Amino acid sequence: MADGNESESELSGGCLCGGVRYRINGPRRDIVNCHCENCRKTHGHVAAYTSVLSSDLSLLKQKSLNWFHDTSPDTYRGFCNVCGSSLFWDARSGNNKISVAAGTLDASHGLKTIGHVYVSEAGDYYEITDGLREFDYSGQDELEKNE
Ligand SMILES: [Zn+2]
Repeated sequence: MADGNESESELSGGCLCGGVRYRINGPRRDIVNCHCENCRKTHGHVAAYTSVLSSDLSLLKQKSLNWFHDTSPDTYRGFCNVCGSSLFWDARSGNNKISVAAGTLDASHGLKTIGHVYVSEAGDYYEITDGLREFDYSGQDELEKNE
């Protein structure tokens, strides 16, 4: 598996108020920025996500974790109902991975931003100028392959 950042160093993170805390043990994808309208509404701007196996994500504290059923079938967004942090994007059908918002990590342990997806839905109030790869819709699979 060429999954980019193969480091198994432990990642930890959580929401702003500490009501949600998690730990990740296992491979994690580098960061992909999602420009879709739903991500921008949830995060207030572009969403930056790593992706991990759902089984590698341990929820240490989740008393304020709520799941919002997105407009896509079987897609859920995890957020803290106290401080409002957006933490997870989970497509529960046919996918054993979960996206974790990069901004909620305590430290990134070398993860790098590798590209942009859903650029077709990007806001008109900014430009993408970093030269990284861009995909009109989902491009995560291709970004992972080319690591
Ligand atoms: Zn919180």
